[in-house]
Amino acid sequence: MTATHRPMAPSTDDSGAINELQESFGRQRAAFARDPYPSLEVRQDHLGALAGMMLGSRERIRRAVSEDFSVHPELFTDLVEVLGVVGRAVYAAEQLSSWMAAEARFTDPGLYGSAQAAIRYQPKGVVGNIVPWNFPFDLSVGPLVEMLAAGNRVILKPSEFTPACGELLKEMIAGTFDSDHVTVVTGGVELARAFSQQRWDHLLYTGNPEVGRLIAVEAAKNLVPVTLELGGKCPAILAADSIDAASVEQVLGTKLIKNGQMCISVDYCLVPRDGVDDFVALAQAHMAEHAPNFTDTDDCTGIITERHLDRLIDLLDEARDAGCAIVELQPTAKVDRASRRMPLSLVLDPADDLGVMREEIFGPILVVKPYDTIDDAITHVNAGEKPLGLYVFAKDATIADQVLTRTSSGGACVNTCAVQGALPALGFGGIGTSGTGRHHGIEGFREFSNPRGVVTRGEGDLIGALYPPYGDLAQAVVTAALGG
Ligand code: NAD
Repeated sequence: MTATHRPMAPSTDDSGAINELQESFGRQRAAFARDPYPSLEVRQDHLGALAGMMLGSRERIRRAVSEDFSVHPELFTDLVEVLGVVGRAVYAAEQLSSWMAAEARFTDPGLYGSAQAAIRYQPKGVVGNIVPWNFPFDLSVGPLVEMLAAGNRVILKPSEFTPACGELLKEMIAGTFDSDHVTVVTGGVELARAFSQQRWDHLLYTGNPEVGRLIAVEAAKNLVPVTLELGGKCPAILAADSIDAASVEQVLGTKLIKNGQMCISVDYCLVPRDGVDDFVALAQAHMAEHAPNFTDTDDCTGIITERHLDRLIDLLDEARDAGCAIVELQPTAKVDRASRRMPLSLVLDPADDLGVMREEIFGPILVVKPYDTIDDAITHVNAGEKPLGLYVFAKDATIADQVLTRTSSGGACVNTCAVQGALPALGFGGIGTSGTGRHHGIEGFREFSNPRGVVTRGEGDLIGALYPPYGDLAQAVVTAALGG
């Protein structure tokens, strides 16, 4: 089982924040009861306001993300935390009239005459969103896009590990939305627990699977429907025809994003046994050519806290002590404790009982596991939990298809990594321990909507025959249905 020993959160007194949560929840419920179905135009206005809020706060978002991470590439903050969310809102606003449209469904005219049946998408009500530290705006305001598109009211709870982003988000939301529509509560783990115990109409949690289980249990007590966006170990399988610079660029490039602190980063690479030396040489060449001083640059994200950094150092030390070959891809670089930047290392063929094999790595360590046949690689993936993302590199499309058909994961890419999480039109989520449910695009709209089945009676039906006491008409209906 994948497990992460979770660094302890700072302790806080959350009693005020819990009161604020309960008060906001009550006000949002009352407001939803007064206005349960915002029109298309109103929802588009909300999405426009959200996009304007993100663009107008761009500078402050860049500063807050850099403050929480110690170092964070500002260009990447713009790209993902600001423009990614804005693009998602623009796409949803464009698509919304078709998403909201009722969908006609078949009714048998012999039995139901001219009755009409349709799925009508209804807002669920008051939705909670528990956010992790690694993408503080993309994972709070991003899903808010589809929550608002679906006509809901929303309370967001940022992570205690990103206090600057959390406070900024609170201010941005308060300046843009009425508090009985969207609001933010900030605090520590006690608040997080209380949050998961509310009687939400839907609850989204993004974070590690361990806490995901606790959330699912708390939600189940109130039969609250949940979307769980969890993590795990995402593999990249390199076929024998694809041990080349192009594949290595995609794998390492993805790994360098946020210095590995991304749920859909590559956790480990499955490489044909006789291709491991080539893979290592290509990785060394890639770093030497493209990112020789990576940890000295502002493109290298700091590890979120010292405790998270210590966890990563421990994972590497444990593998080294166990005799694993470690390849430092920036051989002269050291961990910089002041900025929490850590250089990228490969760990070659670690034993299954080591932390790097059991835990989601979530940092600048890439495991390389040799395999003998593509069947063995598939068996290896299938022996673990179903990952959030799976990546296959193969020039031969039949190999890529074979891997996709015989494995399961939340999303997947062929000849690239992580792009499945970047597209506003592609539903995103996990399966099994990597999560349940989707956001992004129409899948997100539907996740946060109640797909209500509605039948409107017409003329010429035999519905009366279905009511007891049953007589000749009911018998005739059954006989006809049985083909007698
Ligand atoms: P984290 O420590 O910030 O925790 C996530 C949230 O859970 C926080 O808001 C926190 O306050 C809350 N929380 C903590 N304990 C709680 C409890 N007992 N009850 C209720 N809420 C509680 O973030 P993390 O978990 O370290 O995030 C990293 C993990 O998230 C990785 O496993 C990563 O793969 C996963 N992740 C998944 C996605 C996705 O979209 N599937 C995206 C980002 C991260």
